[in-house]
Amino acid sequence: MHLPLAAYTVCAEAACAGVNVSGYVFPSHLPNLATAPPQNPRRTCAGRHTNTSILNFSVTRALPPQIQLPLQTAISSPFPSLRCRCPACMNPLRIGPLASVRLPLSTLCRHHHPRPTPQIALALSTSALTMAPPKAALDFVDFINASPTPYHAVATAIKILAKAGFQQIHERDSWAGSVRAGGKYYVTRNGSSIAAFAVGHEWRAGNPVAVVGAHTDSCCLRLKPVSKKSQVGYDQIAVEKYGGGIWTSWFDRDLSLAGRLLVRQAGGAIVPTLVKIDRPLVRIPTLAIHLHRQSGFDPNLETEMLPITALAEQQLNKAPANAGRRRADDDGDDDDDFQPLADMADRHHPAVLDVIASEAGVSVDAIVDFEMMLYDTQDACVGGLNDEFIFAPRLDNLEMTYCSIEGLVASVRAKDALDNDNIIRMAVCFDHEEIGSTSAQGAHSNMLPAVLRRLAVLPGSSGSSSSHRDAHSDRSYEHVSSDASGEESSTAFEQTLARSFLVSADMAHAVHPNYIGKYEAAHQPAMNKGTVIKVNASQKYATNSPGIVLLQECARAAAVPLQLFVVRNDSLCGSTIGPGLAALLGVRTIDVGNAQLSMHSIRETSGTADIAIAIKLFEKFFSTYGVMEPKILID
Ligand SMILES: [Zn+2]
Repeated sequence: MHLPLAAYTVCAEAACAGVNVSGYVFPSHLPNLATAPPQNPRRTCAGRHTNTSILNFSVTRALPPQIQLPLQTAISSPFPSLRCRCPACMNPLRIGPLASVRLPLSTLCRHHHPRPTPQIALALSTSALTMAPPKAALDFVDFINASPTPYHAVATAIKILAKAGFQQIHERDSWAGSVRAGGKYYVTRNGSSIAAFAVGHEWRAGNPVAVVGAHTDSCCLRLKPVSKKSQVGYDQIAVEKYGGGIWTSWFDRDLSLAGRLLVRQAGGAIVPTLVKIDRPLVRIPTLAIHLHRQSGFDPNLETEMLPITALAEQQLNKAPANAGRRRADDDGDDDDDFQPLADMADRHHPAVLDVIASEAGVSVDAIVDFEMMLYDTQDACVGGLNDEFIFAPRLDNLEMTYCSIEGLVASVRAKDALDNDNIIRMAVCFDHEEIGSTSAQGAHSNMLPAVLRRLAVLPGSSGSSSSHRDAHSDRSYEHVSSDASGEESSTAFEQTLARSFLVSADMAHAVHPNYIGKYEAAHQPAMNKGTVIKVNASQKYATNSPGIVLLQECARAAAVPLQLFVVRNDSLCGSTIGPGLAALLGVRTIDVGNAQLSMHSIRETSGTADIAIAIKLFEKFFSTYGVMEPKILID
């Protein structure tokens, strides 16, 4: 049964087959569901033709009463479920949840168009539509697709934070005038690590900081400083492995380039510019099985994992637009002829430089240097018969990066969220975890200690009256210092560390049905069954009892499940930023993460329901730590 609920119009684009999205449909009939209708519903079909077309809704399954009722009133007909179809393949579109009806919601067709079409969702979306994958998972998929490198991950996180009112501050500045109780801020280092935090209105120097820590980097292949190679008619680009990837998974994928350029501007300033080339340019081909009859696949990573990027002959016929150009600011002075390094155009294929430069909208000669990585152009997506999976690159650890940032943002969403709070809530995401965290912006750097030290001595809000403070004395830390200039403020940093807590969030291993024997029998995390607490007696994970107690309380308050993980005694164990940061700071720490399969593959798998679970868990940790901290005292 197809029910015409909307005024139909047909897409003007012939190739679109005349089918797709209309504006909002019947919000006026759904007072209980829809908020204000969109003022100017943007009309875009899934083929991204700027026009409108048809939505067909068909009835397939039972709707809950709170939706049935208004629908019945509106249409005078009991319907079970709403469904609309992809214009290209007529498969069902997925409709995001109603919960955030004011936001653009995503619709996904299983086979074709993973693009948001907000107007459908505005009219129809409801978290009760059983076919719809959770909105949090769809938003996370968008986050991954926008974040092929740590630089992009930080930039994407900043967009979320800025929208939530977080202000940028800089490590090179004094924070004395800018950071205040009640404020929300973020600071980056190298553009690849970020710390975002919100200061409670009742903050006092020496009070606790509730931290969720994750990492922005993932295993990948990076362009070598000299990448230009050519063999037997192929142009190739030399790459260096980063981290412990499952490198065989990088073969026969449609790869492209993304990264950060350092660009010389007209005035001589060098500025970073992010670039992500969306079309596949690069491939690492396997050898045909006929030429290589071996049981295992164990390629030499230097000689057999060299990507191809062009046929040299084709390149010769195409004059490189910028090859051999002089630097933009070259004034002809003899001194400028001296080049300490070979020109970029001599180190990399000019055609590769051209495509990077044009994507970034700069000239090739303005690119002084770059850090480019390969990434898979296949978008992350929701999959499985019941939309239970996320198939994606970089789940380790963009999933926890995303959940930590979203958890922080969710915890400060209410206007009065920070009013009675006496702590600082912080999400910090580091680069370089996959190579051991030891770098200027890695977790073992002074980044977090430096940020915490500067915050620990931050004076409390002078505006709050002492009577107001007294009202919360059971939850405040007046005994540290009522003003930061007091003698006790000299120990504020140490007091803050002793009271703080770090939730180290990094992905965990879901049990694999084909390798059950690799998992400890009683500790087999399942997908979509909650965030996993990771325990290791040798402190590869920093978890101990106080952390487990604390996290259980957060999970109880958030009504989300938790799971426990420990490796077999005859197995190796991975590690995280947790133990290193715990040692560096002396801060109580717990290691947690969502369950996933195929960690470090170019294409990993995790669970859609676990995204919202982790966000809720972190949100509760941030919003209740100030109350819970004094209750779990172990000296
Ligand atoms: Zn990780």
